[in-house]
Amino acid sequence: MSQLHIHQFIAGQDNYCYLLHDADTGATASIDAPDGALIARELAAKGWRLTHILVTHHHGDHVVGIADLKRATGCRVIGPAAESHKIAGLDATVREGDSVTVGTHTFAVLDTPGHTLGHIAYHDAQQGLAFVGDTLFTMGCGRIIEGDHPMMWASLSKLAGLPPETMVYCGHNYTASNARFALTVEPGNTELQVRARAASNGDPLVPSRLADELATNPFLRAANAPIRHALGMEGCPAWKVFGEVRERKNRA
Ligand code: ZN
Ligand code: FE
Repeated sequence: MSQLHIHQFIAGQDNYCYLLHDADTGATASIDAPDGALIARELAAKGWRLTHILVTHHHGDHVVGIADLKRATGCRVIGPAAESHKIAGLDATVREGDSVTVGTHTFAVLDTPGHTLGHIAYHDAQQGLAFVGDTLFTMGCGRIIEGDHPMMWASLSKLAGLPPETMVYCGHNYTASNARFALTVEPGNTELQVRARAASNGDPLVPSRLADELATNPFLRAANAPIRHALGMEGCPAWKVFGEVRERKNRA
């Protein structure tokens, strides 16, 4: 198994595109398809031929490029079973317990509902990579558009349980605003202060080591004593503390 090469770039304002290339076989996957024309140009510049698109959820900014890329390359499109009726062009649907193979690399599918009800993440345990779409962001988390607080908390807890050295690849660069909000929740967190300074200097901190998220992301830390204390929610279930942090971010 050769190393997976990852080419990352931004489409539009803040949508991350990730192209994964397996040099042994030439297999190349795009995580979501935020901009078909841009992704096609980047593929050409690399000399890579697209073989797969791995879709995380049905939102327009993640699926808009699927049709053009599929027409141009004949690539195989894989996406969440629970959203198959909302995503055109899927060749295969997957859910937790399934895996997806790209060349010599295997991705385990994780159900991470909350942002949307069928949202999934792709985890390469061998290389320690997780492509988490709009569930977890650097120092932030996705808006809960279709699910509820307990559901999103369960999904984030699942991701938080991956090995701490896992590199997390998120769907958007919201890092600077996430860092500013995180500081309002935990102003005394020194690791957060360091990362927030980097973010304010323009470093997106993507990908992000899960261990660094566990140390700085207020949504993953919602149930920890300092945040419970700051919110006066010592006795509450973890998902409720998380819910309060999420509501504050919605109003921020
Ligand atoms: Zn989304
Ligand atoms: Fe999105």
